[in-house]
Amino acid sequence: MGYRTHTCGDLRASNRGETVQLCGWVQRSRDLGGMSFIDLRDRYGITQLAFNEGWDPQLLEQARSCGREFVLQIRGEVLLRDKANPQLPTGEIEVRVESLTVLNGSKVPPFTIETETDGGEELRMRYRYLDLRRAPLRDNLIHRHNVGRLVRNYLNDLGFLDIETPFLIKSTPEGARDFVVPSRIHQGEFYALPQSPQTFKQLLMVAGYDRYYQIVRCFRDEDLRADRQPEFSQVDCEMAFVEQEDILNTFEGLLRHLLKALHGQEHGVFPRMSYAEAMRTYGNDKPDIRFGMRFVELGDLARGKGFAAFDQSELIVGIKVDGAAEYSRKQLDALTDYVKRPQRGMTGLVWVKHALDGTLSASVGKFYDADDLRAWAEAFDSQPGDLMLILAGGENKTRKALSELRLHLGEELGLRNPAVFAPLWVLDFPLLEQDEESGRWHAMHHPFTSPKPEDLALLDTDPGAVRANAYDLVLNGNEIGGGSIRIYDRGIQKRMFSLLGFSEEEAQKQFGFLMDAFEYGAPPHGGIALGFDRLCAILGGAETIREFIAFPKNNAGRDVMIDAPATIAPEQWRELGLKPGVSTPA
Ligand code: ASP
Repeated sequence: MGYRTHTCGDLRASNRGETVQLCGWVQRSRDLGGMSFIDLRDRYGITQLAFNEGWDPQLLEQARSCGREFVLQIRGEVLLRDKANPQLPTGEIEVRVESLTVLNGSKVPPFTIETETDGGEELRMRYRYLDLRRAPLRDNLIHRHNVGRLVRNYLNDLGFLDIETPFLIKSTPEGARDFVVPSRIHQGEFYALPQSPQTFKQLLMVAGYDRYYQIVRCFRDEDLRADRQPEFSQVDCEMAFVEQEDILNTFEGLLRHLLKALHGQEHGVFPRMSYAEAMRTYGNDKPDIRFGMRFVELGDLARGKGFAAFDQSELIVGIKVDGAAEYSRKQLDALTDYVKRPQRGMTGLVWVKHALDGTLSASVGKFYDADDLRAWAEAFDSQPGDLMLILAGGENKTRKALSELRLHLGEELGLRNPAVFAPLWVLDFPLLEQDEESGRWHAMHHPFTSPKPEDLALLDTDPGAVRANAYDLVLNGNEIGGGSIRIYDRGIQKRMFSLLGFSEEEAQKQFGFLMDAFEYGAPPHGGIALGFDRLCAILGGAETIREFIAFPKNNAGRDVMIDAPATIAPEQWRELGLKPGVSTPA
């Protein structure tokens, strides 16, 4: 019969009377004197095992000696429970155990392996294989598997080919630092781990594989930020003979397919917004549009009345919070503190309350009369009961601070419901951004992104104004994907590299292979990559990607379970031709 006839999630009342074999781990046991129960767990569920002195005193003794997380194999008869447990799918039955084999013992686990655990984050990371036994993590991994399956089915059905690309490559500039791997055979030389398969997928287009995808690991040596992983997965895609519109339709179709299959939600055509509009109306290139609070600029309505903080500022901009006119002094002070924190650096927050009786009162009432405030209220389209919150200062800083305040209020007011999904395309990103200190231009997406043809002429005169055929897919305030139509002309690609400050030799040395390929019939092409970990997290109603990765790194980029990164033996240094602490050949 093998180890088992059923899993711990299988048995129901209809199995009553059957003799079954189960294997699993002891989640907990309850000893009630003459009888004892064990909850036996495997990845499929939990089944209650029953032991009774009257049936078999020796077996009862044996059961009592099994500690938490012992691995058992049992054989017994399925009985109906006296009192069903509606919380468990197997709650109607229990198994009256007739024989028990301890397949393996277990030390007392360092934390409780149940849905609610007492283990701290670090401890659970160290014993990840125990944490993974818990139902919430198990469900997350099953969810991840399902998202992957749905993605593959969707793309396979559209004729996309899943093609692997190498991990040991030469640097691809995606804006982060590369992880490098020293070559033993070619001492002094290094591979780089791909930040994405970008150049390879473009070469696949040149090769004629006009629909490619891969759920692929990418590596970026970025400074540590909360909820970033040095290695992460992307749904990486590329298509040839397409325009931006084709890509948008194909991949909004993919997300629609996921939302339907996973949540039963029907979504129509996704809204679209230009980057410029997103920045103007939300102060953010990945706005959470589950709620309103769009930015309203007051400009001349607020200048010239003697309020220096407004008169001297580049931008005066606010949001309206529906029904919040009742906010207390204390609540308003807390919001003021929030925008004044050093990372936001605002000097203050101006509020205007629109009372239910229609009267308007403001924190800057000294400077503005009732007519002024009425004009503001109109600009905000404020109704009695609403609250207006206004910031002023340097343009970028103020937009950013107001965006954060908006998200903070959204959170506080429960407007960011994880069961509500609000996808959005953000389009027409600038091609380049300028480093304030060095004055150097950087590709905002990556250097292979095509400028909008109508903006090509600006490349020489006003590079900052050139828009790209680049797009981001945003879901609930998170960028879940980004891509672009690519350059496929050697001349334009060369010009791009030179704009980005590459000398001709450098460009040839680093990307000659791609520019050479463009001389052998490169088709027009474009693509996108979706952050798979984050996609799984958001679709799973959570925001921490770590909970959706089987073996993640911690926030310091360490794997605390296997203890990596770690030092290597002197012998390994020697073999690689490296000296400890020195990166040049020995
Ligand atoms: N390679 C890009 C990225 O990783 C995505 C793309 O342009 O397709 O963000």
